[in-house]
Amino acid sequence: MKPNPSIKPMLAGVIGNPILHSKSPKLHNFWLQKYNVNGYYIPMQVEPKNLSKTVDSLILLGFRGINVTIPHKTAILSVAHTITDRASIIGAANTLYFNSDGKITADNTDGYGFKQNIYSKFPSWNPKNGPVVVIGAGGAAKAVVHTLLSEGASKVKLLNRTKSKAIALAETLGNKVEVIDWYAIEDALRGAHTVVNTTCLGMVGQPKLNLNLQNVVAPALIIDLVYNPLETDMLKKAKELGHNTVDGIGMLLYQAELGFTNWFNCKPEIDVDLKKFMMGSDNSSVQKTN
Ligand code: NAP
Repeated sequence: MKPNPSIKPMLAGVIGNPILHSKSPKLHNFWLQKYNVNGYYIPMQVEPKNLSKTVDSLILLGFRGINVTIPHKTAILSVAHTITDRASIIGAANTLYFNSDGKITADNTDGYGFKQNIYSKFPSWNPKNGPVVVIGAGGAAKAVVHTLLSEGASKVKLLNRTKSKAIALAETLGNKVEVIDWYAIEDALRGAHTVVNTTCLGMVGQPKLNLNLQNVVAPALIIDLVYNPLETDMLKKAKELGHNTVDGIGMLLYQAELGFTNWFNCKPEIDVDLKKFMMGSDNSSVQKTN
């Protein structure tokens, strides 16, 4: 069935600089087609100096909202009329909703994507059940640690190559976050119940993340935010040791679900076919891990 041309198309998109690397257009356009939605999702390269003017123009054009990516995730908060609690705590937004009265709501859906990705595979996972270790203290780590605490983790051990960044992150998220020295990683992992890699180590073109997973609980849940490759060296080794694993592609998909649902009035399904499509059909490891 073709969309009715007399009905105004719904508009959304993503702004960033650069923007060509973004996977969001591929994902949202797949959903628009799949659900036969009369809408468009447009990638837009926006310079920092034009951020506010661009958002005003998009509202004028009737956009329902946008995704926001690097380098605008923090600066975008200054143009919003309402900032959700999680975006405010994280200090960054990746999704904007343009309300019918012209007001802008800024949200951060990374943490939602992170937890939904876990629960979709391990519904009974509970961060209350034991120590949690998070490796990395960049932008993604903040959403991850905030979500782990919101889900009930009583303690998060945080390690980062640059310790000062871990300390700064811990200061914003409270005293349940314990900063551990990078060199003490092996000690930190002892008895861990959940381990999350939020660094780019393990990604194509980056060094591997070598963790000794012998002393974590058996089985622990080992999560990697990296999705290229889908099965990182760390996840492969974790599986060989009998641990449960979660890769990064689902987080990317679930964080997009909220925006799509709100802008296009349609809740998209996240399944193995979608993961395969996003990773390219030649990626045979997709089915094995999801
Ligand atoms: P970011 O803000 O640039 O942070 C990068 C992190 O990686 C920092 O903790 C950094 O440590 C660490 N790092 C980089 N190179 C390192 C090395 N050689 N040795 C040790 N640590 C190193 O990036 P981000 O936005 O947080 O993203 C981090 C990763 O998560 C990326 O791989 C990204 O693709 C992935 N991610 C995935 C999703 C998803 O939906 N699956 C969402 C967001 C991010 P220093 O502070 O010491 O530099």
